[in-house]
Amino acid sequence: EAKERGEGGHQRYRPGMEARGAERNRKAAALRAAMQQEQLVVFFQPVVTLPGGRIIGAEALVRWQHPTEGLIGPGAFIDVAEQTGLIVELGTWVLRSATREAATWPDELKVSVNVSARQLREAGFPAVVAAALRDSGLPAHRLTVEITESVAVGGGATAENLQGLRDLGVRLSLDDFGTGASTLSLLVTCPVNQIKLDRSFVPDGDASDAIADAVVQMARAFEVEAVAEGVETAEQAALLTRLGYERAQGFHFARPMSAALFQEALATELAARR
Ligand code: C2E
Ligand code: MG
Ligand code: MG
Ligand code: MG
Repeated sequence: EAKERGEGGHQRYRPGMEARGAERNRKAAALRAAMQQEQLVVFFQPVVTLPGGRIIGAEALVRWQHPTEGLIGPGAFIDVAEQTGLIVELGTWVLRSATREAATWPDELKVSVNVSARQLREAGFPAVVAAALRDSGLPAHRLTVEITESVAVGGGATAENLQGLRDLGVRLSLDDFGTGASTLSLLVTCPVNQIKLDRSFVPDGDASDAIADAVVQMARAFEVEAVAEGVETAEQAALLTRLGYERAQGFHFARPMSAALFQEALATELAARR
C-alpha cells in the first residue's frame, strides 16, 4: 500500500483505486466483526539464550482464528488495521491478553509486544499500558514494547509517549533493526533497551556477516541488548553465537505457538533442567 503513495503520502489516482478502497473497507469490517466475535488470538514465540537455547521470554504475535479459513497471520490484516485506525483497539487487546498471560509465567520470563506507530501517536498510550500492567499484575520490567523505525516519524504524542513508557519502567526494543534509513541516528534520538537484528541480516555462511557483526558491536557500544530474529538453522545459531549474540528467536528453536503450548514448552524445559 505504501508503495502506491506519491510524495508526501498522498495517494495519486490510479485505475482500480476505488476497487482497492472497497476491498479495504470490506476487510476492515470483517476484522471489526472478528474482534467482536473474539476470533483474535495471541500466539507466543520463545526468545532463547545463545548458546543453549534456554527460554527467557516470548514475543506476542497476533493471529486471526477464522471460522472457515483457519489461522490467518498478521501480514493479512495489520496493514488494514493501521489504515483504518482499528489497530488502536486491536493493539490494546493484544497488550492486555499478552500481559495477563505473561503474569502466569515464572518471574524471570519477559514478554514482548509489538506496537504500531499509530498506537504510539495516540495521547494517553502510557496510561493504556499502565492499566494493562495493573490489571494483569505483571511488573513493568517484564514487558518489552517493540517499535519499528516508523515511530521516528510518528508525530502526535510519540515523543511524550516513549518517555512515558520509560517512566513506567517498561523496556523498549527496536524491531527489524537495520532495515530502515535512519537506524543509526535513531539509537541516539530514541534510547532503547534492545535491538532486534532483522532476519534478512542473519548470516547463513554464504553471504557476508558484516551487518550482523556491526550490529552486535554497536549494541555493545550503546549498552543495549541484541537479539537475532528469524534464526532457522543450527548453522545460523552457531554463526550468531560466534559473533557474540546472546539471544535469539526463530523457527530453529520454536515457532509461534498458542499460550497453552507455550506453557507446555516451559514445563518441559523446567523438568529437563532438574
Ligand atoms: P515481527 O515483529 O518482526 O515478528 C517476527 C515475525 O517473524 C513473526 O511473523 C514470526 O512468526 C516470524 N518468524 C519468527 N521466526 C522466524 C523464522 O525463523 N523464519 C521466518 N521466516 N519467520 C520467522 P508474524 O507472526 O507473521 O508477524 C509479522 C509481523 O506482524 C510482525 O513482525 C509484526 O510487525 C506484526 N505484528 C504481529 N503481531 C502484532 C501485534 O499484535 N501488533 C502489531 N502492531 N503488529 C503485530
Ligand atoms: Mg516484533
Ligand atoms: Mg521483527
Ligand atoms: Mg519483521
